[in-house]
Amino acid sequence: MIKSMILSSILGYSGNVKQEITGVLYHEMTHIWQWNGNGRAPGGLIEGIADYVRLKAGYAPSHWVKPGQGYRWDQGYDVTARFLDYCNSLKNGFVAQLNMKMRNGYSDSYFVDLLGKNVDQLWKDYKAKYNN
Ligand SMILES: [Zn+2]
Repeated sequence: MIKSMILSSILGYSGNVKQEITGVLYHEMTHIWQWNGNGRAPGGLIEGIADYVRLKAGYAPSHWVKPGQGYRWDQGYDVTARFLDYCNSLKNGFVAQLNMKMRNGYSDSYFVDLLGKNVDQLWKDYKAKYNN
């Protein structure tokens, strides 16, 4: 998996290859330690958390969506990573706490537990903040 990701990065990416490979490794390493709600968490959230870690490590590539872009909070990858970054700005440590709650299961209500708002409201607030 990691090997094929690196290869596709090298073949398909004309920017800073070392930067891109490091970013891909952050993403893939996150999958090794993150919880997935015993398989019940949305796939887009899993991918979004992996890209969130990549973002916070300083390896968000320039082709990613900008903050506020995207159609759904659980669209995955960069879209969800930007949204999680917004959520974490409301409460530092949010993403780590969300991951911990996903150890044994998953519910959208985890957002309410941690931030006091449901995830659809948070998405609306996020879009409004960036006029999207
Ligand atoms: Zn992934």
